[in-house]
Amino acid sequence: MSFSCAVITVSDTCYNKTAIDKSGPALLEAIKENFPGARSMYALVPDSYDEIINLLKTYCEQNINLILTTGGTGLSKRDVTPEATKSIIEKEIPGITQTMLLKSLEITDMAMLSRAVAGSKNNSLIINLPGSKKGALECFGFIKSIIPHAIDLILDRKENIKDTHSQISKHNQENKDLKPNTTSKVKILPSALRNRTSQYEMISFDKAFNIVKDFSKNFHDIEEIPIEKSLDRVLACNIITNTPFPPFRASIKDGYAVIAADGAGERVVKTGFAAGDDTSGLFVNLGETVRVNTGGCVPEGADAVVQVEDTSLIEADEQGNEIKIMINKAPICNQDIRSIGSDISKSTILFREGETISSAHIGIFATLGHLKIKVYRRARVGLLSTGNEICSIKTENLKPGHIRDSNKLTLLNLLKTFGYTANDLGIIKDDPDLLKQALQDAFTHHDVIITTGGVSMGEYDLIKEILKVDFDATILFGRVNMKPGKPTTFATCQFNGSTKLIFALPGNPVSGTVTCRLFVIPSLRTYECSRNDTYHLFKARVNVQITGDDRWDFRRVKISELAATNPVKIATEVGNQISSRLNSCVGAQGLLIVPARFNTTNLPFFLDAIMLYR
Ligand code: AMP
Ligand code: MG
Repeated sequence: MSFSCAVITVSDTCYNKTAIDKSGPALLEAIKENFPGARSMYALVPDSYDEIINLLKTYCEQNINLILTTGGTGLSKRDVTPEATKSIIEKEIPGITQTMLLKSLEITDMAMLSRAVAGSKNNSLIINLPGSKKGALECFGFIKSIIPHAIDLILDRKENIKDTHSQISKHNQENKDLKPNTTSKVKILPSALRNRTSQYEMISFDKAFNIVKDFSKNFHDIEEIPIEKSLDRVLACNIITNTPFPPFRASIKDGYAVIAADGAGERVVKTGFAAGDDTSGLFVNLGETVRVNTGGCVPEGADAVVQVEDTSLIEADEQGNEIKIMINKAPICNQDIRSIGSDISKSTILFREGETISSAHIGIFATLGHLKIKVYRRARVGLLSTGNEICSIKTENLKPGHIRDSNKLTLLNLLKTFGYTANDLGIIKDDPDLLKQALQDAFTHHDVIITTGGVSMGEYDLIKEILKVDFDATILFGRVNMKPGKPTTFATCQFNGSTKLIFALPGNPVSGTVTCRLFVIPSLRTYECSRNDTYHLFKARVNVQITGDDRWDFRRVKISELAATNPVKIATEVGNQISSRLNSCVGAQGLLIVPARFNTTNLPFFLDAIMLYR
């Protein structure tokens, strides 16, 4: 659709050039992307009631179809964009601002403080957007779909309005027709008709792991975040600095700045400086010294610092000020001086893309005044439990056959120990419509969805089928030759133009936990381009006889060392290994990998194991 559009940035600081306007250009870009035919213009005004009104009036007189303002909607004294807008619009359109509010509240409570106004004047639609680039783009995204129709209505373009209305009613009709099938196309089969063998090929753990890692490599989104929130995130660019540190010659000791060539002997104390004092203009001459503190500037002329411990007082005035001191030990040139850039030199690559940000990295960002940092975006993760028998943890009196949802909190906290947060998307019954609805909602706001339960062979195990049939998902694997975790499923689908990853984990608590560790965490790491090893393999000594299952078995074990002087690691199972018994994960320090059909009578023997650091 072709229309004219103006973006007005309202900001004192941008207007005074003490800040750079990021929101206005970003909105222009978003308009170009969403409405390629639109002709856009841009203006920058201070937070001045009169100037805002004048500009809005001018644009309305010029019949600009869409006027977006960004900024001046806050609560500070100078924020008057809504008042100025209100004073000129003829018809207010509260639905637009309410939509922005409701949707923004899903992201942040701060939205409660938004005061945006939207409405029409003459042939123009005017909408106030927040001042921050993020807020402005988000709000624009929430309302962009109605802009063409709103402009048609304002301009009374009857043909277009009719078209839109007929499209809407057709869409409603189609949805109504679909309703009886609501909304899932999957039906629970009568038990006699269900499959008795799985249609999914059983693949090896290694193959499944590689599929997960390879698929998770496809995401390299970058975002800029404040350094305060950057711990454990992965750098998305090299960090090069043009600021040397220290930026001045700094003393390493509390002592005296001297000329080394003067050697040991008497010095006249010219003056004294504390750390933080500006020493510029002061010059140390032969025979003189200046008192300095650790971290303070070394004045010009001086080429060494002598620590106070290597000096003695010769003469002081009545107030106790030093007049003369003795340097007891001949100084060496540059002694106890940090030269400019000795900690961080100029124009070097300080950190490289791919590094995981530690507390020390953050300290260095702070030193250099890098307040924001580019990192790889993490996946937005949603977690839902499924099962007719699964109840909220708050359920006091469980009905017969019901149990509380332990998977949700186990997995949320397991993710947390690796630094990832996930949204709790509730407990969903084994009902095709409800599951479809829940997955659809989950896909709307998340990149990675983890489900537990509903992937085995029961007639109520519907997840795989719903993913395939309702979401046209590709099941990358649906069965793995491992124990616990045989029915672990990894799938992908497109939703609203973006790729979703789905980990449908088995419901048994141990299975969910082990497969979350072995598949989900590595995937989330890879998604954010982290090069950290997800797990560390080692050889474990087993002292008791073990008979392998027909699948590869990941047994939860404690690890001890053979002796204080012998670091050989001994693996001892943490009790009964049945996959419902979450107790086997409590205190487990490793996963012992017992190959399928493993059998040996030679004790002790060694097997691969995975170290569980957390
Ligand atoms: P499913 O994978 O749905 O066949 O479930 C396998 C077993 O795990 C059953 O005994 C379920 O009751 C149990 N289970 C499934 N989901 C959960 C959950 N969220 N919390 C605790 N146990 C669960
Ligand atoms: Mg179930």
